[in-house]
Amino acid sequence: MRTERSIELFARAREYIPGGVNSPVRAFKAVGSNPLFIKEGQGSKIYDVDGNEYIDYVCSWGPLILGHSHPQVVQAICEAAGKGSSFGAPCEQEIELAQMICEAIPAVEKVRMVNSGTEATMSAVRLARAFTGRNHIVKFEGCYHGHADHFLIQAGSGLLTAGVPTSPGVPEAFARHTLVARYNDLDSVQKLFEQAPADIAAVIVEPVAGNMGLVLPEPGFLEGLRQITKEYGSLLIFDEVISGFRFCFGGYQNIVNIEPDLTTLGKIIGGGLPVGAYGGKKEIMDRIAPEGDVYQAGTLSGNPLAMAAGTASLRILREGKFYEVLESTAASLCEQLEQVLEGHDGILSMNRMKSLFSIFFTGEKVRDYPTVLQSDSGKYARFHQQLLQGGVYFPPSQFEVCFISSAHDGQDVEKTLKTVDKALQQLQ
Ligand SMILES: *Cc1c(COP(=O)(O)O)cnc(C)c1O
Repeated sequence: MRTERSIELFARAREYIPGGVNSPVRAFKAVGSNPLFIKEGQGSKIYDVDGNEYIDYVCSWGPLILGHSHPQVVQAICEAAGKGSSFGAPCEQEIELAQMICEAIPAVEKVRMVNSGTEATMSAVRLARAFTGRNHIVKFEGCYHGHADHFLIQAGSGLLTAGVPTSPGVPEAFARHTLVARYNDLDSVQKLFEQAPADIAAVIVEPVAGNMGLVLPEPGFLEGLRQITKEYGSLLIFDEVISGFRFCFGGYQNIVNIEPDLTTLGKIIGGGLPVGAYGGKKEIMDRIAPEGDVYQAGTLSGNPLAMAAGTASLRILREGKFYEVLESTAASLCEQLEQVLEGHDGILSMNRMKSLFSIFFTGEKVRDYPTVLQSDSGKYARFHQQLLQGGVYFPPSQFEVCFISSAHDGQDVEKTLKTVDKALQQLQ
């Protein structure tokens, strides 16, 4: 595999862009290699600047559930662009996407569009604090909610201590308001509430954790969060930026039948353009300006181009048996992958939910952040390199999820299985 042109471009990018990238994981640091510069994506495939073809399991980190350059999405974007990309005034397309979201997710009665998942979670927390008149939030180790200051916090020495910033530049005063609990561990949440029963504005959680590799909620975990937050008068925020419209036409909350107070969305609802959204019960959402007193705004929010891409995508997802077809491809790949992994000595495990999966280099069952950390990242890095050689593009970090799109087909599945098997043999 030749990658001269990517190497050249990365050197040039580093002169002008910090680390050569506009989002850190793209730099391939976690797998110790040179990032590939992508020039085109079609369906399930991406093509780098040296002309190599890969089956793509990153899919822009989730938005591209339809694969790359879906004709109906491209057409919607082109048509919208021809009529002007942004007005800074209301347009009808905003209502269309908002209505689709509200109709799909019963707990979302009203929704505000923003430009990224980060903006959505940041705004939802501000709203929760205003609504409850409280300052603390609870988040979970290994969950990611974008890069706003109060989310860049991990557990300190003990679970029950207040947070310590993960990044310089986050004031300690902010970190004090972020409490960190353990995923799938209701006791850790209960203890935080017992320590500060009247101070916690909200618990924010990825109902399916997709930012430490894939970690599934165990039975009762999300129900327990709903119960504890209710009991203490605190809000429950489901961060469905990945899980929204990934498993069904709605959120994961539709599947487990739990109504959070606020929901954050992003990725899929933008159809590949920058869109985020937060929504919830009317009485909470009506606190947002100009109806209410909680400020939040955006020059490009709800612009017609992004709304067109989002609406075109959701229309396709709503049709016929979209999710059943996607899931049957995913099941075919994942079930056979499990068999391939079993042939390799119990040093591997896999987590899977419908069209998301992660392979971990540990024999242990992965169910929270500490078990995720047992995975051998060095091995993953070598595995990743082998897969690229074979034309399969997995996320460049052990701690990310593989995304399957509706463009992936039986041929992709066959090639992926062969390539994974060969890559694992070469690791031994
Ligand atoms: C990607 C992601 C975000 C942040 O979204 P951006 O658009 O990257 O700002 C927030 N929460 C979750 C669960 C995510 O996966």
